[in-house]
Amino acid sequence: MAHYNPKSLNADEFINNEEILETLDYAEKNKNNVELIDEILNKARPQKTATGCVCKGLTHKEASVLLACEIPEKIEEMYKIAEEIKLAFYGNRIVIFAPLYLSNYCVNGCLYCPYHMKNKTIPRKKLTQEEIKNEVIALQDMGHKRLAIESGEDPVNNPIEYILECMKTIYSVNHKNGAIRRVNVNIAATSVENYRKLKAAGIGTYVLFQETYHKESYLKLHPTGPKHDYNYHTEAMDRAMQGGIDDVGLGVLFGLQMYKYEFAAVIMHAEHLEAAHGVGPHTISVPRVKKADDIDPQAFDNSISDEIFRKIVACTRLAVPYTGIIISTRESEAVRSKLLSVGVSQVSGGSRTSVGGYTEAERPHDTEQFDVSDQRSLDEVVCWLMENGHIPSFCTACYREGRTGDRFMSLCKSGQILNCCHPNALMTLTEFLVDYASPKTKEIGYKILEAELKKIPDETVRTIAAKHIEDIKNSNRRDFHF
Ligand code: SAM
Repeated sequence: MAHYNPKSLNADEFINNEEILETLDYAEKNKNNVELIDEILNKARPQKTATGCVCKGLTHKEASVLLACEIPEKIEEMYKIAEEIKLAFYGNRIVIFAPLYLSNYCVNGCLYCPYHMKNKTIPRKKLTQEEIKNEVIALQDMGHKRLAIESGEDPVNNPIEYILECMKTIYSVNHKNGAIRRVNVNIAATSVENYRKLKAAGIGTYVLFQETYHKESYLKLHPTGPKHDYNYHTEAMDRAMQGGIDDVGLGVLFGLQMYKYEFAAVIMHAEHLEAAHGVGPHTISVPRVKKADDIDPQAFDNSISDEIFRKIVACTRLAVPYTGIIISTRESEAVRSKLLSVGVSQVSGGSRTSVGGYTEAERPHDTEQFDVSDQRSLDEVVCWLMENGHIPSFCTACYREGRTGDRFMSLCKSGQILNCCHPNALMTLTEFLVDYASPKTKEIGYKILEAELKKIPDETVRTIAAKHIEDIKNSNRRDFHF
């Protein structure tokens, strides 16, 4: 039997079933242990230091106790601390991105995904480089600067060379003042050699959702195709790191398995990356199963309520304070609003989940991967964020300045984020306001900029940022960053 070892590179040891079951048992036994819960909450709180703030984070065991706790006042306290942590490290900034679907050809048999090989009703489509250019122009015209490319797994139709060529095309398009400055990649688990190629092509974050960490369920949910190999899939982030990619994004598809099991496991995965490679995950995504072409989410009996979902996000924020949390347009405006206050730091906006969807006048449904709940335009999402006290950020500076992996984490911990990320967010927001925003969004945005500039502590940085903002407003100069 495999033994728990967070440093091991064997999936059965770092995501150890016995350890998870013991954790869940411990959490259940202590869910009303107020003394322990208070101790855990105190550990999670941001602590002031001479240079700023630090957070200790929580172990999978501690975080699981909080997730199991059903005492209303304690849950409220979790939400409060989650918001404090988010504000301490990410401020009121919310990073914006959009998915770009390249191809829905797929040889896997995933039971929850409409791209599965046996689906004969969904039209199969793979974008040509010319079509990609047009999609990128449409995305740039909305104001996007950061994309997550998505593709089914198909070694013949979507080999790594195709993905690399698409990345090159995406980075090469400059329409008017537009540019895509960071391409995150969400493709199937692959080899160290291929991860090296993705790194050389300028990958931002390598994103791969685990779907479920429960091995037995995983094998049933992925009955055929290369994705059936649980260990190969679960060890993908280790290979990505060996290939030189130090920004990796984890995720669970909530609804497939017991949420408490998945939560303990994803935190263990984060602990493993830290223990084995010295750097935790850059992001954690929290998708829930949605209706799609031949997929009925009711078929999965582990769906979670919006309240539990909120608790999962808050507990994630407490456990991994320096990791970005991503919420996509799978969720409605109402759900996204509730999650923004408990630690989410990235959202997608104006998304289309069909292959070639951005160049169509009407939202196409034929090749969609799942139904999009939040169907607002990017301008509407930006406006809504600002009306709710957030700063939409189109910043991509860290990765371009080499601040990835542990260097990004040190920036977070050093208290320099207000002198670095905040001006970058304000300058990229100005680009959006000048080049793409509606009159209403412009009006709200310009007012906010003035107040937010004052929050930059370093006077020199503040003066330079203010000057660049004026440059953006009065010329075609773009892409200033610290
Ligand atoms: N094909 C890639 C792989 O093998 O990991 C990833 C790309 S896929 C386009 C991105 C993610 O969408 C999947 O990892 C899965 O979690 C999610 N997804 C699939 N079907 C879904 C559904 N019905 N509802 C919500 N999300 C879904």
